[in-house]
Amino acid sequence: MEHPEISFENTANAFKTKDNKELRYSLWLFKLMKNPFLVKLFSRLTILAIQMGIPVKSAIKATIFKQFCGGESIEESKKVVNKLNNSHIGSILDYSVEGKEREEDFNNTKNEILKIIKLAKGNPAIPYTSLKLTGITPFTVLDKINSKQKLTAANEIEFKNSKGRLAEIGYYASESDVPVYIDAEESWIQDSIDSLAEEMMKLYNKKMAIIQTTLQMYRWDRIDYLNKLIQKARNENFFIGIKLVRGAYMEKENIRAQKLNYQSPIQTTKENTDCAFDKAVDICLQNIDVVTLCAGTHNEESTMHLIQKMKELNIPNDHPHVYFSQLFGMSDHITYNLADTGYNVTKYLPYGPVKSVIPYLIRRAEENTAISGQLGRELRLIIEEKNRRRCSRILAAD
Ligand SMILES: Cc1cc2nc3c(=O)[nH]c(=O)nc-3n(C[C@H](O)[C@H](O)[C@H](O)COP(=O)(O)OP(=O)(O)OC[C@H]3O[C@@H](n4cnc5c(N)ncnc54)[C@H](O)[C@@H]3O)c2cc1C
Repeated sequence: MEHPEISFENTANAFKTKDNKELRYSLWLFKLMKNPFLVKLFSRLTILAIQMGIPVKSAIKATIFKQFCGGESIEESKKVVNKLNNSHIGSILDYSVEGKEREEDFNNTKNEILKIIKLAKGNPAIPYTSLKLTGITPFTVLDKINSKQKLTAANEIEFKNSKGRLAEIGYYASESDVPVYIDAEESWIQDSIDSLAEEMMKLYNKKMAIIQTTLQMYRWDRIDYLNKLIQKARNENFFIGIKLVRGAYMEKENIRAQKLNYQSPIQTTKENTDCAFDKAVDICLQNIDVVTLCAGTHNEESTMHLIQKMKELNIPNDHPHVYFSQLFGMSDHITYNLADTGYNVTKYLPYGPVKSVIPYLIRRAEENTAISGQLGRELRLIIEEKNRRRCSRILAAD
């Protein structure tokens, strides 16, 4: 059972596709994002500028967009997809348009996802695709269903249309053998998302996990949900795909719970979230016959934990049911070193018009500010690589 030694300290490998200019640029950006005041200012001013029609697109596209997104279209993103593929890293093209509420926009998003599936069919450079249910369904409808409110006649039609879009994506993905991750979102719409994801899994996952759901392990109820889902899959004979993440909406969740006076769905400490993530990894690996797992994390300890568990359970490093994934623009030291040692690894590669991916970019900036330790590490690694290159230039000149 092959499991080569792996180290995340190999900066030459981690940054091998970045030239000196790109490296200096990443260093500058991550230094800026370390400052919570600047990040808050960026979030507020960008939203304001867009609302007021101030042309900020070029500035955003040349900076934070370039770090975290593939391009404004599939065509523009292909360059990044090819670059990643040359290093044995798959791309999960993610049409990251958020906050839309019109039928026309939902249909556009659905058509875009169908285009990705078409491109991904039989293409190892794009092994998966993904969708946000709020990209094809009105948030208000998911919210009402979640809280068991009565839908209006208009809502009923909207929901029927949304299910139609989801069914079309599921059918096409299944016909093309291209698995689709359904992202996890705010807890107050997540039950609706979970039940639609389960419905789709039962329908399309008879032979393999075409439809894959996401569990946010910052929620204290997710281990229980995971166990129930696995039991359901066994009882009803379908495969399940599980993308494990810690979760991106923590602050929003805690603020809402406090404001509306209910128990926050979020774990009380970071340590509890970390433990839950690793426990969920163990459960998925113990059920690897029915589960396909994707560990969506930048956390080195969790990544190492998964590697260690695979070794213990004699699961080969390239087992088709185990994927590692990081967001594009983050933790290249994990992604490139995993790829180099033969693990299945992908990058979530968001794309879309600059204006529409702003909420995603703000989440990334906030996440990078908030992570204690991790961003320091990103910076440290970039600085180390800069120094390593400087030393090798000096040595070469001697
Ligand atoms: C491939 C991929 C797909 C993703 N898909 C989704 C998705 O569908 N839905 C989604 O919500 N997010 C998604 N994310 C984003 C993800 O949730 C964040 O990137 C992630 O939370 C960052 O954590 P980490 O695992 O990298 O580890 P770390 O950096 O170690 O952990 C940071 C995270 O820990 C949690 N945390 C921090 N402090 C506390 C605290 N005091 N108490 C409890 N918990 C705490 C928070 O979730 C925080 O984001 C995805 C990420 C990746 C890489």
